[in-house]
Amino acid sequence: MKFEIITIFPGFFAGIFEHGIVRRAQAEGLVGIGVHDLRAFTHDRHRTVDDRPFGGGEGMVLKPEPLAEALKSLGIEAKKGEKQVLRSAQNDEAESGTRVILLSAQGRPFTQAVARDLAKVERVVLICGRYEGVDERINEIYCDMELSIGDYVLSGGELAAAVVVDTVMRLVPGVLGNEASGEFESFGIADAEISSDEEGVPRSQHGAGGLLDYPHYTRPAEFGGLRAPEVLMNGDHQQIRRWRREQQLRKTLKNRPDLLEGATLSDEDQRLLEAIATEDGE
Ligand code: SAM
Repeated sequence: MKFEIITIFPGFFAGIFEHGIVRRAQAEGLVGIGVHDLRAFTHDRHRTVDDRPFGGGEGMVLKPEPLAEALKSLGIEAKKGEKQVLRSAQNDEAESGTRVILLSAQGRPFTQAVARDLAKVERVVLICGRYEGVDERINEIYCDMELSIGDYVLSGGELAAAVVVDTVMRLVPGVLGNEASGEFESFGIADAEISSDEEGVPRSQHGAGGLLDYPHYTRPAEFGGLRAPEVLMNGDHQQIRRWRREQQLRKTLKNRPDLLEGATLSDEDQRLLEAIATEDGE
């Protein structure tokens, strides 16, 4: 899988992808990252990438021509242009593995589900905006989607691009070693089959069933006056699974109750939730 990032600050990415899983995935050839300097696609002495907004108002806007050239250099054709030319069938085939994404505070939310979809494509092209944003025609002509990493305004799309690369990359098959582990984290796939084991004990694999992950502990057993939960040290795996599932439910109810609506919950889960709610009400 390949990520292509278009930015006016290529130096921003120096070092950011040289750690941990992201570095290893590149070293093993599972993932590649190209960073492209938008100014390389300008033709004036000042390497101008921005201009004043039509209609007046604050700030500057990234000009369309350098962005269009940068995209063209990556083999990206217009979806539709001034002449409303749709991508030809041949181009569709050639481009079927590519998603062109504009990072934008106005985009649809970037979620783990979006990341799972993107991890299936061959190439993700990320356009980083700056200033007031990008001339909207770039979005209309070339982009498959606008993505926002959260309800706040960054000063540029670079941080957002790094978030998308990091999140999507670890879901590419082979990158995490154990391919299943991406499914069993916070925001994992809600799946009835993993909600309880053969003995009816709810599964506790991290975010199984679409819940948040459970809390993790390691040595020392005693830290800061707090002891790690005894149940995790007694070797009874059924008890451990039950405790972890309960913690997932507690954490999700406390921090992200909205996720419970889409989660796959067993009868045991429902009973636990009711017990927790009663407890909290007391
Ligand atoms: N005028 C824009 C607005 O109000 O939505 C904000 C522009 S922002 C200062 C500059 C660039 O940062 C945007 O073009 C976009 O690429 C990026 N950006 C800002 N917030 C973002 C977010 N929440 N998610 C993704 N990209 C973001």
